[in-house]
Amino acid sequence: MRKRRVVILGATGSIGQSALKVARDIPDRMEIVGMSAHTNEKALAAAAKDFPGARCVRTHGPDGLERLIELATMPEADLVLVAIVGTAGLRPALAAIEAGKDLAVASKEILVMAGEAVMQAAAETGVRILPVDSEHNAIFQCIEGRDISSIKRLILTCSGGPFRDAPRKEFDAITPERALRHPTWQMGRKISIDSATLFNKALEMIEARWLFGLPISQVEVVVHPQSIIHSMVEFVDGSTLAQMSHSDMCFPIHYAVTWPDRVPNSLRPLDFAALGRLDFESPRRDDFPALDLAVEAGTRGGTLPAVLNAANEIAVDAFLAGKIRFPKIWEIVAKVMAKCPHIDHPGLEQVIETDRAARALASRLVLE
Ligand code: NDP
Ligand code: MG
Repeated sequence: MRKRRVVILGATGSIGQSALKVARDIPDRMEIVGMSAHTNEKALAAAAKDFPGARCVRTHGPDGLERLIELATMPEADLVLVAIVGTAGLRPALAAIEAGKDLAVASKEILVMAGEAVMQAAAETGVRILPVDSEHNAIFQCIEGRDISSIKRLILTCSGGPFRDAPRKEFDAITPERALRHPTWQMGRKISIDSATLFNKALEMIEARWLFGLPISQVEVVVHPQSIIHSMVEFVDGSTLAQMSHSDMCFPIHYAVTWPDRVPNSLRPLDFAALGRLDFESPRRDDFPALDLAVEAGTRGGTLPAVLNAANEIAVDAFLAGKIRFPKIWEIVAKVMAKCPHIDHPGLEQVIETDRAARALASRLVLE
């Protein structure tokens, strides 16, 4: 039985708080040795009370990155959970890999932006990348170490978000408040908007491409409003495996920490008779253009996924600040993808430079 000594980057967020819940639930298997907060001092102080042995770090301010890297490489840790929203976790994640730590990745943006560099660094140092995003955690559980040649398709499930049934003509009137109200998951603000535009699923298609080493043409999306099946893998022999649980991020966090073991916990199991039914439908690709933009970015590769990600972050911020209408998020991402200079096999610095350029371009489009 292995006890994981875990650092949480972003302990004050929605994922961070779920991870602390898991740690309280399975103390024999999970010890918190470090945690970071960006601005939320109160939540960090509360967590520090529960985990008095953990090193606590605040990262807001000019030396934030240094502090994150220090925490991510601390000798007492063997697993780093990256749960920072956006791309600020990229350098600390790479530093953790270099220091030989396994990585549990919730921050899908870093895999979209620099998936090739992260996976390559992990392969070189022999560390494990454990997916925390529920879809990828589900796929990870279904594949269980099998060779990718046995896989025909990865099928990501998608709740459809709060506007699954809303007519397109009403999209202009969508307010941040409505877009933040997700039907099945409780999450941070940025990912909640991403779930409403389907950019969350777009990012996840690219994330899957890197995590599992398959081309984006083998990554599909099906809408499943109940969010019980978290994703599926169809194998070459025609069999499909699915992973199911209630929609609670404690499940994938628990599995990432206890992998490869199955460990009892206090999470509520499914009651199938009470669920009654599970539904599936095709996504409305024309009304929610994020998925087609992901296929384009994932097929062309290079810096294009980083451009999609950066433009989306700026557009989401602008929407939340009341500066743009909801459909303009797609418009800005598409325009920045069309305009931003492309590099085919970028190094890390080129990816970071492209990210900066795409943000600048997107910020200008916000003002138009
Ligand atoms: P939240 O907004 O709830 O939390 C974000 C965390 O990141 C907080 O701890 C925040 O600190 C910290 N943070 C924000 N900006 C910075 C920065 N510049 N530098 C360092 N730390 C920073 O987000 P979520 O927990 O919802 O999401 C985290 C990541 O996990 C995202 O990438 C998301 O896509 C992914 N994810 C989330 C899921 C969910 O259910 N929530 C599901 C699957 C993936 P503070 O609050 O102290 O300012
Ligand atoms: Mg997800």
